[in-house]
Amino acid sequence: MTRVKIPELDFQYGIKKDVYYREHQNRTSIVRIFCRECGTKLLLYQKDGKQGWLKWCYFDRIIKPWFNSRNSNMQCPKCNRVIGKKTVRKGRLSYEIIRKSFKRRTIVRVKG
Ligand SMILES: [Zn+2]
Repeated sequence: MTRVKIPELDFQYGIKKDVYYREHQNRTSIVRIFCRECGTKLLLYQKDGKQGWLKWCYFDRIIKPWFNSRNSNMQCPKCNRVIGKKTVRKGRLSYEIIRKSFKRRTIVRVKG
């Protein structure tokens, strides 16, 4: 298992390498997502596949949320902007991310 150190976590995160990971050419990255409006940190996320656009956040790839994940939307806890809407994508619970509502920063890239 590939373990990576992430500053926000006091343990080493084990990269999830399952069927979805393999469907994305065995590459992934860990990203931080921020509210574009006010800069508040919203979540740590394992994004499978190429860097590319972030259109969906699958629940099983959320490493750590800073928003209220019991709400149906992903919403900034500070300015209340809606960042994503809960939906089901290809049988997986996910948030459909609203374009231009967020910023992201890549922390780690993993391949293989
Ligand atoms: Zn905000």
